[in-house]
Amino acid sequence: MSTFFNSLGRSMTRAPRSTKRSPTPTSATFPADPSAPKAAPSAGPKPLYLCSPFVESALVKGNFKTIVMLPKYCDIMEWVAVNIFDFYNNLNEFYGCLTEFCTQQNCPTMSAGATLNYTWINQDRKHVHLPAPTYIDYVMTWVQNMLDDDNVFPTKSGQDFPPSFPSTVKHIYRQLLRVFAHIYHAHYAQILHLRSEPHFNSLFAHFLAFGGEFELLEMKDMHGSSSAPVGVGALWERWKGMGILTQ
Ligand SMILES: [Zn+2]
Repeated sequence: MSTFFNSLGRSMTRAPRSTKRSPTPTSATFPADPSAPKAAPSAGPKPLYLCSPFVESALVKGNFKTIVMLPKYCDIMEWVAVNIFDFYNNLNEFYGCLTEFCTQQNCPTMSAGATLNYTWINQDRKHVHLPAPTYIDYVMTWVQNMLDDDNVFPTKSGQDFPPSFPSTVKHIYRQLLRVFAHIYHAHYAQILHLRSEPHFNSLFAHFLAFGGEFELLEMKDMHGSSSAPVGVGALWERWKGMGILTQ
């Protein structure tokens, strides 16, 4: 990072970071998926987000690999940090539009598939079920606190990233993936109602491509178990089949 950015006060250090991000592009649609079902989305038991035209709906043409690759002369830790910062902020903004729907009544568990409900590990190391809005609030607060902590996400000149940084960002990635997974599973109708599905698909595809490129995604987190598959795991497979994501 330049010393100019680092000479700014702590409260100012986040804004320059976003200028170096790999922004989710905004100019086209995913190529049509030749294997996509032509039936109306309501005709099958498939979730809407796996159905045409929604599965192709995005603002990006082609493969995401080019926008996630490490730019020349950019430190890899810094590149990961700025992108995590960006994914977090964008996801937070989307979720902010859904909070009136994601309530304790509508979402009593952190669901992400027909048989999948994530548990939170509490202070006693016990797995507990939480309503989705509570779970997501915990995740977002936890991530925000880390982004604000200079010992975790250093912003000052000459300050190294801690050795634990790679494992920290993997933890963050896992939890942000769960938030994406809940939104797709439980709130896709509202995303469609807001006509935000191209943006949301692009954000998620960007998140997955970045996670793949820098090995931040665990396969088991993407697929879940056979008895409790992750809903968006199927979306990920479809996008790989369409050539939007590699791996
Ligand atoms: Zn919800």
